[in-house]
Formats: sequence, structure tokens, C-alpha cells
Amino acid sequence: MNTGEKMKEIYEILKKTFGYTNFREGQEEIIKNIIERRDTLGVMPTGGGKSICYQIPALVFEGITLVISPLISLMEDQVGALNTLGILSVYINSSLTPAEMRGIFSEIDMGRYRMIYIAPERLENEGFVEMIRSKTISQIAVDEAHCISQWGHDFRRSYLNIPRFIKRLSSRPVVSAFTATATPQVREDIVGNLDFDPTVYVNGFDRKNLKFSIVKGVNSLTYIKRYLKEHRDEGGIIYASTRKEVDSIHAELQSRGYRVGRYHAGMADTERQRVQREFVGDELDIMVATNAFGMGIDKSNVRFVIHNNLPRDMESYYQEAGRAGRDGLPSQCILIFNPKDILTQRYFIENNLFESSQEVVDIKYEKLNAMVNYCHTSQCIRSYILEYFGDEGIEGCDNCSNCLNEGETEDITIEAQKIISCIGRTKERFGVTMVVGILAGSKNQSILKWGLEKNSTYGLLKERNQKEIRALIDLLIGDGYIEVVKGEFPTLKLTSKAYIFIRERKTLTRRVVTVDKRVSHEGERS
Ligand code: ADP
Repeated sequence: MNTGEKMKEIYEILKKTFGYTNFREGQEEIIKNIIERRDTLGVMPTGGGKSICYQIPALVFEGITLVISPLISLMEDQVGALNTLGILSVYINSSLTPAEMRGIFSEIDMGRYRMIYIAPERLENEGFVEMIRSKTISQIAVDEAHCISQWGHDFRRSYLNIPRFIKRLSSRPVVSAFTATATPQVREDIVGNLDFDPTVYVNGFDRKNLKFSIVKGVNSLTYIKRYLKEHRDEGGIIYASTRKEVDSIHAELQSRGYRVGRYHAGMADTERQRVQREFVGDELDIMVATNAFGMGIDKSNVRFVIHNNLPRDMESYYQEAGRAGRDGLPSQCILIFNPKDILTQRYFIENNLFESSQEVVDIKYEKLNAMVNYCHTSQCIRSYILEYFGDEGIEGCDNCSNCLNEGETEDITIEAQKIISCIGRTKERFGVTMVVGILAGSKNQSILKWGLEKNSTYGLLKERNQKEIRALIDLLIGDGYIEVVKGEFPTLKLTSKAYIFIRERKTLTRRVVTVDKRVSHEGERS
């Protein structure tokens, strides 16, 4: 069959088997590349439609497509859906009894299945590898491929076995890999660790129907209650970082008569499956959950995703927030920022050391910093997200809390000049606490020890309290004027953007959020 005929065939499969009329952005190119037997890395946002990119080729190819997937629940969902569509497929995972496993092996022997889903750990099972080696495998599809990278947010060591497994096959299948979270570093890692040379497709990360907002200086429960009251007919997800918080928000909303469920790892499996089913089936409107909730859940009418706490990194945030508005209708992604959550996330990093090398800990801190900077930036936050994921930034989106300028703006050009000048004049030797102290005119011992009270920038911001100065510095870090350089003592360093700011006499404004008749400055909590 030539490519033209194959393309005709894939359109037919799209319509007849899957019942869709058109491909979504990127799908057709990716599928074409795979059926021409070229290795492929597809980077698409959650809900972008990655699955059919390897499922359609699986139907075009002779032989088996082996899908490597990290989660039992994901596999079960996908295989269930495929079998409903008449595509014979099966999953092999630890939930099967030995007898079931034997049954499946003999069905595979008889050539019953087009697609077989496995967890990466299965590749360590010699019995399975020997059995599958004797079959014709035409495609290996690696789902959630970021799990192969330490930079990814769900590193799974077993993914590293994939290339060795591929080498053991008598003929090399085409390898396709998919992920929703690929910063350039993760992308490099996927290519390096999978040991392949793919055509890379990165599909627009921008989800235009999602409005992104950062809310500061509020009591989060009060905010959530007010939001829900104003959006009575809508359903959505509220993420919180601990089980305790999930339980307490859930109890509060339940007592107010909302159809609300909760989901976290401390609940029994059956209970979790039940609430998940009820939420997807619209019997529950609101789900309060930890980040254990959501992967593989296909609910299109989620109107809002509120984060009660700071997520650990941008990857998690965008994946979780991205569960809103999969039907393309306007939806809201709101992050309630409270500086104390930074401490919680630091605690998680420090207390999860058993599997982590120092390198991994450093990576986690760096990612947390990027997450915190997201909350502080005065730029378009959609643009911040796009740039983070290696997409091109945009000038302004008119659909995020910064672009919509919610709240009043305050000119902070002079303050920024003073801070930059202070860092410059102290030769970038100090960290944030010292810089704050100098600008505030503190008589702190360490300031006096270094003779900094004689510095020309000493006391330049003495009309502001130290917390306010710190919030201004956070904003300058978030906006990329200042970098924090790690070392025994982290120090502040000016970036080229800071020099341009001074040289070209640029101006800078920030939003002042008005909450409940109180005015609270960014970074501050009332
Ligand atoms: P991802 O794995 O990228 O998060 P999925 O593959 O689960 O996304 O697809 C998300 C949803 O979009 C699913 O409900 C899927 O059936 C649907 N979908 C995928 N491709 C198309 C298409 N071309 N037309 C319409 N719906 C599609």
C-alpha cells in the first residue's frame, strides 16, 4: 500500500472505528510519520488526543502494538474503551491471577490481540519477554514518556529498561513516545534514555478556553465558598496538598449542601472508584482531591480547577489545571497562592529523600522555584506557562488575571531601580535577607558587621516594611530581573534584563489585589 492509500485508510479508521470526523491539531502528521515507520515523539497537552496517534497505526500495521503505560487504571480504561470499539486488546499487569495470565498468553499466541498494554515493570519479567519476543511487534508506544526522565515529575526507573528490551527483539519495531509535559530538558532526556532518534512534534500547549488566575492574600476557604456561590451551576475540581485539607474542605462544602466528593490516597480503593465514577457520571459536581486524583479521567465538562495550595511544579500544575474545559468551553484555572505553601513543598522535597539523589533534590527545588515565580510574575501568566514548556511566548492573552489586570496597578519602577541598584552596589555578594535588610535600613548585626550601613543604597526603601520589600524582590525574581544563585548561601544576581531595565529607563507595574475591602499587596497574606 502506498502512503496515499494508507492515509485514506487512516481517515476511514478515524470515522468508522472511532467515530470522529476530523483529526485534531497534530494527530494526522504524527500518525502519518508512524505508519511510515519513523520513530516519533509526540508532545501534546493533556486531553489533546494522544491515544489515537498510536492506536490508529496499531490498526494499520500487521502484528502487535505494545503500549507501555504507567498506571493500571489508565490501562484498564483504555483497553475497556478499545474493546467497546471492537479493537481486540488486552492489558497485562499485577492485578491478574496466574490463571488469567496463562489464558492471555495463549490468546496472544493465537494472534488474538492487536494491542497489548503493559506497565514498564513487566519488561523485567523474563517469562513475558521470552513469550513476546517470539511474536511480531510492529510498534512500541511509550505513553507518559516523561516518566523516563529524572526531570519529569513522575520518574519511573523501569522505563529505563525499554531500549534494552527493544534491542532483544528480532526486528526493530517503530517506536512512538507521548507525553503532555515536556520542557526542553525532559524532551532531551526522553530521546537520550529511550535511545532513539525521533521526529518530534510539539503541539500547541496553549489552551485558549482556559482562563488562568492567581489569587493572593485571601483566606482560601472563604474564597472557595464565595466562588462556588457565584458559580452555582458549575462543576469542577478543588486540589489541596494534604489529605487533612481535602477532608476539611470537603466537610465544609458538604455541610453547605454541595454535591461534593473527596479523593485521596488514604481512602479505600472501592470508595475512590465509586466517587470517581460518580464525578465522571455527573452525580457529583465538585471533587476535592489531592494530586492522586485525575490521571486518566476523561470528563469533558469540568468548568473550574481551583488549587487551594501551591503545586510542586509547573508540570503538575498544568496537568491538573488542564483537566478543566476539555470540551473547549470557557473554564477557569485558579491558583490560590499562600507563601506558607512554599514551606510545605520544601518539606515534601526534604522528606522524600529515600529514592532521591542530591541531583534530583536540586532539580525539584529548581522546579519549585519556577512554580513560585509563576505566582509572582507580573507578565502574562499564560505566556509564562508556554515559555516554560518550550513553546513560544505571547505578548498578552487577555485571558489571565495579569492581562485582565484584575485589581488596580501600582507603579513600582522606582522600587525596582532601588533594589537592582542595591544588588549591583553590593556586588551581588548577598542573599535576599541581607538585601532586604540593607534597603530597609536595618541595624541588624550582620549588616553592621559588613559595614553595609555605609552603602549608598542603605535605607533607600525604609518607608516599606521588610515583608513588602521581600515581595518586591520576589516579583523581580519572578519576572526574570534577578536570579538566585545557589551556593552555600544563595545570593542574588542581576540578569541582563535588569541591566536593560536601568539602561533603557523601562517602567514596571504590579497589581494590587483588592480583597474583601482590604487592600493586600502581592506576596502578602492578610
Ligand atoms: P490525552 O491522552 O492526550 O490526554 P486522549 O487520547 O485521552 O487525550 O483524548 C482526549 C479526548 O479526546 C478523548 O475523549 C478522545 O476520545 C477525544 N479525541 C481524541 N481525538 C479526537 C478527534 N480527532 N476528534 C474528537 N475527539 C477526539
